[in-house]
Amino acid sequence: AEPAEELQEDHRAALRSVTPKLLINGKFEDASGGRTFETYDPRTGEVLMSVAEAQAEDVDRAVKAAREAFDKGPWPRMTGRQRGLLMNKLADLMQDNLEELATLESLDNGKPYTIAKTVDVPMSIEHLRYYGGWADKIYGQTLPTDGKLHVYTLREPLGVIGQIIPWNFPLLMQAWKLGPALAGGNTIVMKVAEQTPLSALRVGELAIQAGIPPGVINIIPGDGPVAGAALAKHPGIDKVAFTGSTEVGKLIMAQAAQNLVPVTLELGGKSACIICPDADIDEAVRIAHDALFFNHGQCCTAGSRTFVHESIYDEFVKKAAEAAKKRTVGDPFKSGTQQGPQVSQEQFDKIMFLIKKGREEGAKLEVGGERYGEKGYFVQPTVFSNVTDDMTIAKDEIFGPVQSILKWSSIEEVIERANNTKYGLAAGVVTKSLDTANALSRALKAGTVWVNMWNGFDAGVPFGGYKTSGIGREKGEAALSHYTQVKAVYEPLKGPML
Ligand code: ADP
Repeated sequence: AEPAEELQEDHRAALRSVTPKLLINGKFEDASGGRTFETYDPRTGEVLMSVAEAQAEDVDRAVKAAREAFDKGPWPRMTGRQRGLLMNKLADLMQDNLEELATLESLDNGKPYTIAKTVDVPMSIEHLRYYGGWADKIYGQTLPTDGKLHVYTLREPLGVIGQIIPWNFPLLMQAWKLGPALAGGNTIVMKVAEQTPLSALRVGELAIQAGIPPGVINIIPGDGPVAGAALAKHPGIDKVAFTGSTEVGKLIMAQAAQNLVPVTLELGGKSACIICPDADIDEAVRIAHDALFFNHGQCCTAGSRTFVHESIYDEFVKKAAEAAKKRTVGDPFKSGTQQGPQVSQEQFDKIMFLIKKGREEGAKLEVGGERYGEKGYFVQPTVFSNVTDDMTIAKDEIFGPVQSILKWSSIEEVIERANNTKYGLAAGVVTKSLDTANALSRALKAGTVWVNMWNGFDAGVPFGGYKTSGIGREKGEAALSHYTQVKAVYEPLKGPML
């Protein structure tokens, strides 16, 4: 049997494929002053690799490279079809290196290797192909006017885009950001998360190999308040796109406001998963379980408030606790593992703190509640029942494997309680009634509603938040509007017979 939690030869090979530096203008460079930071193996807390840590001067260099690539380089000048082909070439190279990318993702983030291989990497590839398909289909209109005029619109790129991404889906968040920006003809400076810089750097290298010109994709690992803040407030960028916490989202927006550039934000959530009395209980338990425990609870769309109707509450709680108990926790490289470690010590500590709060405030711990094992950042799958709306675990984003089950009695009441949050990212309902599903889908104030399912994320479907869960939409045609601007062109009509 494989010894758990040790680096295998293929893990070392995947790590060797990464150049742990800043990707600026098509070259890997050291950070100024030779600054580096460590990225850790969340299974053990041991150092995986030292990575160049971008400073404000480095951000400046990256923005200059992106500016040069936009103002003088071929990228915005080539046809959309050519851009689409290069994006598909990058997708091909990712496909060729699928196992290596999945290994990096799993090593750096802690998610099960089989999930990285069947979900994260393929969906990232799919995303680039989807937007590669859009690259030659971004067009304006010919507009009738109240005069002898020929008026049309062009949809042009914005310029240099600053993008800041989190650690929960490193490759997928990178693809969500790269896709529409590249399709629109923009150039990019991307600040990747300090917890998970590795796979993004490898993709940056593959992008160069694919023939995407130097300076189009610049990748700068580094710290949020240093490199992230320097990027968000840099006067040389034309737009900021951010995914992360609502707290940092507010900072980003204030920083971008200084330069009056547009901002899109994809932020936190506290999504309600509503189980109706007519639901098949086993199916409802499974949906609610996946809604919360997928990716170790580290999803901005996690169904972190499970509202269950009083008539089926006790049976649901019993079965939800059994499902959590059965969840296989362990080394993400072992086959059959459903849950690996949380990403970092910081996240581990925050989750343990919130579990303690849940206990103190009177929620009933049905299962879990402790660390799993003796090392690394593993948390037992945890279920709380008797959770009430005022408890911290019902209000704050936990971002961990902690399910909170609340009780409801009338549909009006559950709608009001589900919407009584500052967040509005996702929501869901489990019911056999089409009328209930339709009523709730319209009443719930969230950017995505899932009916009798959870975690649907098709590349072609817009995704984003109501309320403080975000501004703007990613994915689908909707994202393109944030990465292009409209120019109106007027010409007089002067010929004969007009
Ligand atoms: P999380 O809690 O999920 O780590 P954060 O919002 O802290 O979410 O981080 C998301 C991304 O934002 C990361 O790339 C992080 O480095 C970056 N970040 C954190 N703080 C700042 C900041 N003050 N300015 C800009 N970026 C930041």
